[in-house]
Amino acid sequence: MDEMNLTELKKKLHDSEQQYRSLFRYTTNAIFIIDRLGRFTEVNPVASRLTGFNETELLSMGVYDVLGESQRSIFALFMKAALNGEVSCFQTELLNRRQEKVFALMTIVPRQMDGSPQGVIGIVQDVTKHVQTKKKIKQMSKEDALTGLPNRQYVAEQLEGLLRQQEQLAVMFIDLDRFKFVNDTLGHFLGDLALKELAARLKANLFAPNILARMGGDEFVAILPGQAEKKDIVRIARQLLRHIRQPLLINGYEFTLTGSIGISLFPEHGRSGEGLIKAADVAMFRAKTKSSDSYQFYESDMRSYFYERFYVENDLRRALDKGELSLYFQPKFDVNTRTICGEEVLVRWKHPEEGFISPEKFITIAEETGLIVPIGKWVLKEACQQKKSWIDQGYPPIAMSVNLSLRQFLQKDIVDTVKEVLRETQLPPHLLEVEITESVTIDFERTLEVLHQLRALGINISLDDFGTGYSSLQYVAQMPIHALKIDQSFIRNLGKGKNSEAVIAMIINLAHFLKIAVIAEGVESEEQLAYLKEQGCDTVQGYLHSKPLSASDYQTFLADKGGHFSGQNDKNP
Ligand code: C2E
Ligand code: MG
Ligand code: MG
Repeated sequence: MDEMNLTELKKKLHDSEQQYRSLFRYTTNAIFIIDRLGRFTEVNPVASRLTGFNETELLSMGVYDVLGESQRSIFALFMKAALNGEVSCFQTELLNRRQEKVFALMTIVPRQMDGSPQGVIGIVQDVTKHVQTKKKIKQMSKEDALTGLPNRQYVAEQLEGLLRQQEQLAVMFIDLDRFKFVNDTLGHFLGDLALKELAARLKANLFAPNILARMGGDEFVAILPGQAEKKDIVRIARQLLRHIRQPLLINGYEFTLTGSIGISLFPEHGRSGEGLIKAADVAMFRAKTKSSDSYQFYESDMRSYFYERFYVENDLRRALDKGELSLYFQPKFDVNTRTICGEEVLVRWKHPEEGFISPEKFITIAEETGLIVPIGKWVLKEACQQKKSWIDQGYPPIAMSVNLSLRQFLQKDIVDTVKEVLRETQLPPHLLEVEITESVTIDFERTLEVLHQLRALGINISLDDFGTGYSSLQYVAQMPIHALKIDQSFIRNLGKGKNSEAVIAMIINLAHFLKIAVIAEGVESEEQLAYLKEQGCDTVQGYLHSKPLSASDYQTFLADKGGHFSGQNDKNP
């Protein structure tokens, strides 16, 4: 080799050594030069950062000191391969100074000197963030972010798995009633808090091996493996409903929600997970149309959820246009004089094929679909028109009450609507009364405002179905209402040892203390009437005196009762 070539070669070597040094120093990967025994002989700054040990410390350590225990034998295999001249790349876990796991993508390259293996070079890329994100995504894909419960996909997978192991199981589809209102009135933030609280309540009542999942929105699914006894399932469903209906206190708002539960059974109602969930969903919808706060087992003749919903909704939409809705009137009687002192308007739907459909059944759907707004408007206007016509004919000027559902009550223009109807029909406002339920306390401030505006129109307000809603008594004291209607269930349970007597007595005392009148509804017997009279109840309504009557029957009833109207004897037709 001549002088010239030698200089060139030295320069080249020097350059490549420089390049190697730069690479070693500035790469974003950690580089460990490891000897045949696994000791570190050289490390770069990233290696220090990655492990948390400084260079001097690392040089006194070996690769096995920073490998997680489970990784050591695997590393040894790759090391052996590298010493035989092979390059490999694998994922491993290192432990840093603080004994935290660092997920690493490691490439090991043989390091040869004069053709013989001296050790290996370990090039390590930190992929911890990547691995954690992936884990989180995996977790997230199984978990509902709001409640932390398993989500729809996960529960479907679990259910499929269980169907292979279990001989029997039950699936419950749980849906909150009118949850939309919570979101609409209190906002999504409080709505979410309510969902979280209810999810926790449900969860606390469904221990392993039962599974509770959130399907989205206000829908939950519970899987009860091994359950076959209907009575046990019913007990659980009732218990869940009871826990849902306990008052919620969210950011100072107190309100009550109820739920509807549909139940399907394996293997009777379906053999696939999807089929069972669908069947439970259909049954849930049926439960909701029956009445809120109830459960229902799947039955094979149930139509599909969408069909059923579509069918009822569609028919109901047409009912108004086709004149299938009509008004019934039920008189109210003064307990002391036993004379008529008012009436309640109750809507009826005569379906062309199904016959009469009870308002209990269609009002809920009308509420869910928003159809309650046009239906409610129609009821109000029709009732006021009818009433005005009776007044004009000389029938007694007793007050007529119309039910307002929560959704109607929450309409922004409800006060304007009532005002407009009064103006159009020319009905004197003091003859109109609206019945609202405790559910309106869901947004109490707004409720108070609306109630005061309604009162300012000159109409009266009564609180219907009182005693079922768990709303606290302090609400009642603040509301400008003139009457409380004790819920029928208390009257029905009179004399049945269910403490109804105590509840009724308490409501009457409370109401009178607040100078509010008390109406008992669902009074069917003389015994019930006698008890109510003894307790000082003011007004009764029920089959004992009269069932709800069509407009023409009620008119006849009014005419026949001539001379028995409360304090209005001189004005009879
Ligand atoms: P509500 O306002 O509590 O009405 C009382 C219900 O009890 C009526 O049922 C009435 O027919 C029934 N009832 C009255 N006396 C007796 C009795 O002695 N024994 C028994 N077992 N039942 C009696 P209906 O007409 O089926 O109405 C059910 C519910 O549907 C009403 O409960 C009310 O909340 C709602 N509703 C009815 N009409 C309307 C309406 O026009 N608008 C709204 N928003 N809701 C309505
Ligand atoms: Mg009512
Ligand atoms: Mg009632």
